[in-house]
Parts: sequence; C-alpha cells; structure tokens
Amino acid sequence: MILSSKGIILKVFPYSNTSVICNVFTDSHGKLTFIAKGVRKPKNPLLSILQPFNLLQLHYYYKKNRSMQLIKEADILISFDNIRNNFSSIIVGSNIINIINRIFEQGYSNEIVFRLIYKTLHRLSDKNDKNKVFFIFFIFHLLKQLGLMPNINRCYLCNSLFLNTGIFSYSLKSLVCSSCNGHDLSEFNINVNIENIQFLNLIDKTNINEILELSITPKRLYEIYIFLISFMRCHIQYMNNIKGIEEVEKIYYEH
Ligand SMILES: [Zn+2]
Repeated sequence: MILSSKGIILKVFPYSNTSVICNVFTDSHGKLTFIAKGVRKPKNPLLSILQPFNLLQLHYYYKKNRSMQLIKEADILISFDNIRNNFSSIIVGSNIINIINRIFEQGYSNEIVFRLIYKTLHRLSDKNDKNKVFFIFFIFHLLKQLGLMPNINRCYLCNSLFLNTGIFSYSLKSLVCSSCNGHDLSEFNINVNIENIQFLNLIDKTNINEILELSITPKRLYEIYIFLISFMRCHIQYMNNIKGIEEVEKIYYEH
C-alpha cells in the first residue's frame, strides 16, 4: 500500500550504482529504512533533498516486516539549513540524529520522540547561544520517553528527598542519597548537587520555546551534561558506539 508520512532524515548512504538508502524517523512508524532507486542518476531532483536533518513529506510503498520501504516521491518541508552554518549547532544536531538512529529499532512509532527531534532541530537552527541547554533538554526528555528517567528528586533506595546532593551510583545505575551510597567510592560515581537537580526539574516542566529565558552557568551545564550522558551510557549499551559524541563534551568543556 502507498503511505504518506512526515520524516526527518537521520542518515543517507549510497547503494548500488544509482540508488541511496536512508534511515528516517517518521511521525507515523518511528524509524524506517528507505531505498530511493535511481536517484543518483544525473538531474534527479530527489537526491538534493535526501540529506540529514531535512524534514520531508514522503510517499512510499509500505509493507510491514520488510526491512526497506521504497520511496515513490518526496517533498521537502523544512531543510534546517542554519544548523549547517553554525559549529555548535552542527555538532549537537548531528549527535541528536546519530543517537536516534543508533538506539531505535525499525518500526516502533513514537510521535512524542518525533516532535522532540523536530522541535530541538528547529531550535538549533535559530541564532542563539543556548545549544548546550537544548541538548540537555533533548537528552532528558528522550530518557523520559524511553522510560529510563528516574525520579530525580528522591533517593532510589530509601526514597528520601535530596537536600544538598544526590549521587549517581554507577553500580546501582541510579541516583541515591549519601547514606545509601555508603562507602561506595567508585571513581565513576557523580555528585549531582541540588541546584543541578533543580535545573533538571525546570527542564522537565519548561516548554522548549521558553528555554531561552533560563539562565545557568557554563560550569553547571557541563556537570549536568556529564551526569545525563553517564546515566544514558549506563542504561543504553548502544550509546557507547555513537560516533562523534566526544565532540559534544568539548562544546560543554571549552565554552
Ligand atoms: Zn537513600
């Protein structure tokens, strides 16, 4: 049957002499792999729009359980060109689509994740200096959608409210209080102070459009980034193979 979906292009690679394969996160079916036949022949207009970040309206022949769907035609809706013109936007944006491409299996639809990717890319393409906050917003809400984000205000073991600091325990893969952490002095544990926990609560409740109004120091953004990315690595095995993720840390560290 022929379907039509909106989709954000995650990755594109050549196939045979004239075709390309692309991984796309669609609003209706989650991640799907498409083949676009013959698009690398001269003068085929489709090739120029099959580029990472682009939001397309795709018309395609769909068969459930087939590993690749066949593109019939596609129109560009938004190209997010400005992402490609700004160094930190391109690093953050590329990592967002790499993470999504890596951790999602085909065919699990999640409209909220689709909107999260869309909104974050949209914000990255604006001229602003808040890309570090947008990436934190993206990771936090992605973890929440995947059912991995714990209650960040209370100890995982004894349920007491954090007053000064929570400790991300590497062995428990959770946030615990200092008494529950006991004598676990693993170098992989991370202290998450109460101000950073409060900032994550704001990230939880704030609409992405209101983020420009949040103020926070670069040092605290770096600490929050390290906590979230360590948390994610410890829960999602695939996170260890994300190409280029170390470039994101440099953005937090250097600026
Ligand atoms: Zn406790």
